[in-house]
Amino acid sequence: MSKTKWLIVALVAVLVFAFFALDLGHLLSLAQLKSQQAGFAVLYAESPALVIGAYALLYVVVFALALPVGAVMTLAGGALFGLVTGTLVVSFASSLGALLAFLASRHVLADTVRARFGQRLAEVDKGIERDGPFYLFTLRLIPAIPPAVINLLFGLTRMRGWTFYWVSQLGMLAGTVAYINAGTQLAKIDSLMGILSPGVIGSLVLLGLFPLIARMAVDGVKRRRVYARWAGIKPRHFERNLVVIGAGAAGLVSAYIAAAVKAKVTLVEAHKMGGDCLNYGCVPSKALIKTATLARQMRHSHDYGIARAEATINFAQVMERVAGIVRAVEPHDSVERYTALGVDVVQGHARLIDPWRVEITKADGTTQTLTTRSIVIATGAAPFVPPLPGLDEVGYLTSDTLWSLRELPQRLVVLGGGPIGCELAQCFARLGSAVTQIEMLPRIMTREDEEVSAYARQALEADGVTLLTGHRALRCERTAAGRFIVVESAGAESRIGFDTLLCAVGRSARLQGFGLEELGIAVNRTVQTDEYLQTTYPNILAAGDVAGPFQFTHTAAHQAWYAAVNALFGSLKKFKADYSVIPWATFIDPEVARVGLNEQEAREKGIPYEVTRYGLDDLDRAIADSAARGWVKVLTPPGKDRILGVTIVGVHAADLLAEFVLAMKHGLGLNKILGTIHTYPTLAEANKYVAGEWKRAHQPTRLLEWVSRYHAWRRA
Ligand SMILES: Cc1cc2nc3c(=O)[nH]c(=O)nc-3n(C[C@H](O)[C@H](O)[C@H](O)COP(=O)(O)OP(=O)(O)OC[C@H]3O[C@@H](n4cnc5c(N)ncnc54)[C@H](O)[C@@H]3O)c2cc1C
Repeated sequence: MSKTKWLIVALVAVLVFAFFALDLGHLLSLAQLKSQQAGFAVLYAESPALVIGAYALLYVVVFALALPVGAVMTLAGGALFGLVTGTLVVSFASSLGALLAFLASRHVLADTVRARFGQRLAEVDKGIERDGPFYLFTLRLIPAIPPAVINLLFGLTRMRGWTFYWVSQLGMLAGTVAYINAGTQLAKIDSLMGILSPGVIGSLVLLGLFPLIARMAVDGVKRRRVYARWAGIKPRHFERNLVVIGAGAAGLVSAYIAAAVKAKVTLVEAHKMGGDCLNYGCVPSKALIKTATLARQMRHSHDYGIARAEATINFAQVMERVAGIVRAVEPHDSVERYTALGVDVVQGHARLIDPWRVEITKADGTTQTLTTRSIVIATGAAPFVPPLPGLDEVGYLTSDTLWSLRELPQRLVVLGGGPIGCELAQCFARLGSAVTQIEMLPRIMTREDEEVSAYARQALEADGVTLLTGHRALRCERTAAGRFIVVESAGAESRIGFDTLLCAVGRSARLQGFGLEELGIAVNRTVQTDEYLQTTYPNILAAGDVAGPFQFTHTAAHQAWYAAVNALFGSLKKFKADYSVIPWATFIDPEVARVGLNEQEAREKGIPYEVTRYGLDDLDRAIADSAARGWVKVLTPPGKDRILGVTIVGVHAADLLAEFVLAMKHGLGLNKILGTIHTYPTLAEANKYVAGEWKRAHQPTRLLEWVSRYHAWRRA
């Protein structure tokens, strides 16, 4: 604890001790006040400023320390100074006292509390930022809640001192007036209990609730205003309960849920059912990775005792296999399947006409307009193409166009060091391309810890990728000698020749061409939604890549549940999208999988943590598979087995992660994982062993000493 903290604690302790030691409680009792009232009045008449000053100072101290004489002091204020002056003095003094207590709580306790409950307090902070003054006002008006508790609690939040001060002053005013008024008739008061009658208390509570009720009314008005420009055109009846735009992961799941709960739902897809994941993303990329991994294993067959295994790549066949796999998965997302599930699937381009009408333009040019109570926007994201001079002249591929390639690029440049760029760079290197990967930042996969980036770099370089981090692409050039990309690093330019350029620098939400602008739906890189995934119009929701903040198939599907349920049942009950446990993986070899915090994020957020690590080089199954590389790293709060986050680097890391995702989701700690039987010999045992490492580091040493003595005694 810092010196200032000790000073505050010591000062509070001395003052409280002095109060009880000097029996000030007795001196400031109602009876004493009544008996001394005449004397005080004389003193006040002689030197009013001095009396007011001394009284205010004492009041500030009493209020700040929450000494049990506040009520009597307030009555005294009324008795001595009358209603107006008394109210003024007490109102300012009590607010100042409250502010002092609030600041003391912030200074002494907030850091410790935040260190322990930082993540949970983040939610409270958001609420305080939004509704804090309303809550504080309400609490201040409810006499049953001791002001000291409020001061202490709000000191732990991120509310600004000034806001706390003025809201407190306003909130306490009604109670203050009631007490001061009672004080003006001190002679009639026999006890403190009767000052606030049930009627007065009820009125105060109502007054407290007023701002919240007012807020709800304002929200209602705002909502009406959003729809005001569409006055008179809202359909009287709706043909659909829900129209979903886009049949990727988010759209498919939204439509499926709507059909499952018997809503009338139409799913509109402009291109291919299954969206990016099936056609251009997860499925083809993982199919390609499989072939690349096999090619690598064959090249390293001697590691497995196979003297020679030739990997002759027929790239056209490799890509045909990829296309075949996409076709094999297609039925899962097909029109037939969703129709059988009860979804009305329409193939065409959807456009919002107004908040309740969607116009669909089909391939043959015909249009259909549907009226609907709610809409889910699930239009996904598209590869971002950087505005590089000369890019169009040299030509480029993206994840959308890559899959039609049938000739292996001899020299491939991959622009971008994120997960997609890394997966594809390694794949093509393993298949035989000379790959140069360019990343502007100092390292690849920057969301992960530095050691992960470094390990991934090693892995990619081991497969022959030339990795240029800290290199910024400036322009592309086409000359007689071929195609080049010009990059800059540390002030120096260099040219890299290539046959094929793959842009993998990120993906941007599809926001244009379907009516968002016309309706005035707020966007900022993604469609802006609230926690319920509602857009500017509460009956229009968004899910998946178009809504962000994540760009994964599983998060798109996760959001889809909330979007569909809130769209269909939001007027009865709404659910906030829960992002508390989000896993993801990058499918390079070795895989990198993560859930929750890594060290980098824990440091940024100021969350104290302990690291427990288990190296896969120790794991029997990994050794048997010649895959003994990587690690499992778990972050826990110091001394506790609660899991804050896990990063796994190794073969099948993404599969191994599932146990930790489950544990985090359901609040199971490392002790529970340790107490679970894991099949031998499996890679999953790594999860149990990392829990074992944690346990070993947290042995009850004292207890074990006693146990050792017990055994010694038994031997004797
Ligand atoms: C190479 C690559 C690899 C990836 N690997 C993984 C991975 O391993 N794991 C993972 O979780 N994620 C991965 N992703 C990301 C994943 O593909 C996306 O997060 C996921 O597809 C998002 O789903 P979505 O439903 O939001 O959007 P999408 O899948 O993009 O679907 C949106 C659909 O909306 C349609 N559409 C758009 N506008 C309209 C309109 N006006 N009318 C009608 N239809 C419209 C589009 O045609 C599209 O089909 C990968 C992505 C890529 C590119």
